[in-house]
Amino acid sequence: MRTAIYPGSFDPVTCGHLDIIKRAARLFDKLIVLVSVNPTKSSCFTPNERVDLIKRVTRNISNIEVDSYDGLLIDYFNARNADVIVKGLRAMSDFEYEFQMALVNKDLCYDAETIFLCADAVGTFLSSSMVKQIAMFDGDISSYVPSEIEADIKNGVKRLRQTGE
Ligand code: ADP
Repeated sequence: MRTAIYPGSFDPVTCGHLDIIKRAARLFDKLIVLVSVNPTKSSCFTPNERVDLIKRVTRNISNIEVDSYDGLLIDYFNARNADVIVKGLRAMSDFEYEFQMALVNKDLCYDAETIFLCADAVGTFLSSSMVKQIAMFDGDISSYVPSEIEADIKNGVKRLRQTGE
């Protein structure tokens, strides 16, 4: 059984992430979508909220598990006996960082292979921060996030605006 892990902030999950999730789920027996918690990075949604949003938009895909982790990715990778790390690439700007991460992970664990899936046309210019910025100014995010979580994302961004964080 081939298990892949797709790690990221997913703050919040977008249609770009969902495209990668669907394609990776077809390539592997099991796909773990992992909300990586970075305590030094401020976020709009709590790890539990992010997990919940991803679970809701992937509920029809049977071979997906959603989890969160606040440690080193490679420790989680080993603990879950995973085979592959999946990353999405939007542009050359993603590449440098992702290339470095892939090399570091391979250095920490020789078996940790990273595979990259290219973003689709819309995903190429889509990021969680862009979605949050548009929502912050009451813009239309309907093409960028799955419809079933659009209201939750708007509410989360509104909450952030009110608390002024
Ligand atoms: P961001 O906060 O920039 O949206 P994440 O940390 O949540 O990024 O991204 C997790 C993974 O998903 C990374 O490999 C990233 O390159 C990829 N990714 C992010 N947005 C997209 C997108 N729109 N299309 C394809 N892949 C994406």
